[in-house]
Amino acid sequence: MKVHLQTIGCRANQYDTEAVGAMLMAGGHQITANVAEADVAVINSCAVTLEAEADLRQRVRRAARANPGLRTVVMGCASAMPEAQQAIAALPTVQHVIPGADMVRMANALELDAALASSLPTTQRGARALLRVQDGCDEHCTFCATRIARGLNRSRSPAILVAEARELANRHPEIVLTGIHIGTYGADQGTSLGELVERLVLEVPDVRFRLSSIEATEVDDKLAEMLGSDARRVAPYLHAPLQSGSDRILKRMGRHWYTASRYVTALEKLVAGMPVFGLGADIIAGFPGETEEDHEATLELVKSLPFSAIHVFPYSARPGTAAVHMAGELRKAVIVQRAAELRALGSHKAVQYQNARIGGEAEIVVTDGGTQPRGVTEDFLTVAVTDARYPRGSRFRARLEAGDSGLRTKPLVG
Ligand code: SF4
Repeated sequence: MKVHLQTIGCRANQYDTEAVGAMLMAGGHQITANVAEADVAVINSCAVTLEAEADLRQRVRRAARANPGLRTVVMGCASAMPEAQQAIAALPTVQHVIPGADMVRMANALELDAALASSLPTTQRGARALLRVQDGCDEHCTFCATRIARGLNRSRSPAILVAEARELANRHPEIVLTGIHIGTYGADQGTSLGELVERLVLEVPDVRFRLSSIEATEVDDKLAEMLGSDARRVAPYLHAPLQSGSDRILKRMGRHWYTASRYVTALEKLVAGMPVFGLGADIIAGFPGETEEDHEATLELVKSLPFSAIHVFPYSARPGTAAVHMAGELRKAVIVQRAAELRALGSHKAVQYQNARIGGEAEIVVTDGGTQPRGVTEDFLTVAVTDARYPRGSRFRARLEAGDSGLRTKPLVG
């Protein structure tokens, strides 16, 4: 059987798609990038925004047009939302709607032996591999559909993660620790994310580990120590969801574990004294009830920290979430305007950060080959790779220079 795989959304979803791919290959099936020649398409869906759900519908219809005989399986977060399931099932060629990433149900839907459901994605398609350390979230953010789709926090055992990371390290120069709420890793296992990272560094040689999105106030002393320990082994980069710089809005969002000033203090403490440290954040623009003052508070907070990347999401109501019932919904034009202001500020901060890195050294992991090879630095800057000796999946030290569009690399050895 030939299977075409597509992923919408976050790295946790990407990991799950890789797990489906591993299961199929273990069963002797073939993965194809060309949907027109596929027998089956698996589309892993996202429920974070309305756009993500629209994207799913569009992808399913496009695949059905390219291949009317296709059988489509939709999995992931949108598939787990009761309000969305029926509409997804009615899309052309859709035969199964599997909530979340239940691999036994996926094996069933793909008519595979259930034993294959435990196949691990130890060879992945990207140069940087994903390692999902946990799933689910115990919080109740009022805008979030993901926690509804993913259930409560469940951590994977450290021993299994070390074994999986060892396999991944044979083929991938960087491993990204991913999940839905990775700062709570280990709460159900009597350990912590910092202790896991320490163990991975000790027991898995050479590879560079990176954290995916993590709450700023959940970086404990051990994790901070690891982030500052050795940039060759643990990437000095943090993507810390902010969502709003206004305490009033954070409260309405249900984000009770921090205030704007606690967020700033946590990150200032972390970044202080680090020679190189990349800092990213997610922000929601135009949450219900957000005033001009609240929006200004977010802009001021963003100005005050050395962000290297900002992701701005214009607020969109998600069925099933508490925020849908909140008063104070903003006009679309206001949301769009505030998102544009935040994005412009984010771009300005990104350019400032990049300029400050010109002339500095970096460890590059080459992520893309072809005509325009690219790589990522430890602080998560995308750079042009100008030396053909370094193919996709390789790693080298370089000096960063100003290029035609962004940064480029000048290798330091050989
Ligand atoms: S912390 Fe909040 S936004 Fe993040 S997954 Fe949990 S409920 Fe959703």
